[in-house]
Amino acid sequence: MKLVTFRADLHLHTCLSPCADNEMMPKAIVNEARRKGLDIIGICDHNSTRNVAAVRRACGDGEVAVIGGVEVCSEEEVHILALFDEEESLHQMQQLIDVNLHGENNPEYFGEQLLCNECDDIIGFEDRMLIGATELTVEEIVENIHRFGGLAIASHVDREAFSLIGQLGFVPDGLEIDACEISTLHSITESRDSIPQISNYPIVRSSDAHRLEDIGRVSIAFTGTSPCAEELSRALHGENGREVVL
Ligand SMILES: [Zn+2]
Ligand SMILES: [Zn+2]
Repeated sequence: MKLVTFRADLHLHTCLSPCADNEMMPKAIVNEARRKGLDIIGICDHNSTRNVAAVRRACGDGEVAVIGGVEVCSEEEVHILALFDEEESLHQMQQLIDVNLHGENNPEYFGEQLLCNECDDIIGFEDRMLIGATELTVEEIVENIHRFGGLAIASHVDREAFSLIGQLGFVPDGLEIDACEISTLHSITESRDSIPQISNYPIVRSSDAHRLEDIGRVSIAFTGTSPCAEELSRALHGENGREVVL
C-alpha cells in the first residue's frame, strides 16, 4: 500500500452561497485550485449541496479531486461542515436540510444564489434562504452526518461568529466531531492557547474562500491512498501510518 500526499482546501463556497462572489463558478474554482497546487477541494455552500455536481463535472478526470459537502447552520447558529464521498449521502443530507430550513432568499439584501453547470453558465436561482439557520441542533447535525457516512468538522472554531466556541462557548460533551477547523484569522498555536478544549480533537485548516483569490490561502496536506473523505478520516485518526500535516 503506497501512501500519497494530498494538498487539500476542504472548505470553499460557490456562487450558490449568497455571501460568495458570483465569480465563484465551477470551472473558475477548479482552475484556481489547480493554479494553487491543490489536489483536493471541498465544496461546502451554506445549507446546500446543489452546486457540488457541477464542480465535480468541471474537474472531469483532471488533477483536482472534489469532496462534496455542505456547511450546515444549526439552530444555535453554529456552522458544521459535512464532507461525503457518496452522491447518495449528499442527497440524504440535502433532504434533511430541506425539511429543516425555512424562509425565502432576498437577493437584494443577502446576495444572489446561483445554480450553475460545469461550463459556468447560470442554470437557475435557489429561492430558499440559504444563509438562515436550520431547525437542527448541533448534535442532530453531527449524528446525521455520521449516519449518512460523512465527516463532521466544526467550522472556524477560532471565530466569534457562527462557531461552536463563539455561539456555545464550548464543545458539548460527547459531541463526536471528527475535527475542528481553524480559520485564516489565527495560527494553530494561538487557537490552542485561547481554546484549550480543541486540543482534544484533530485540527484542520481551510480557507473558507468566498472569493477566487482566497482559494488555498490556507490548506492541509494528508497522506492516504486516494483523494477522498474516507482517506482523510483515516489520516485524522492516524490509521496505518497516515497523517495530517498542518
Ligand atoms: Zn461558516
Ligand atoms: Zn464557510
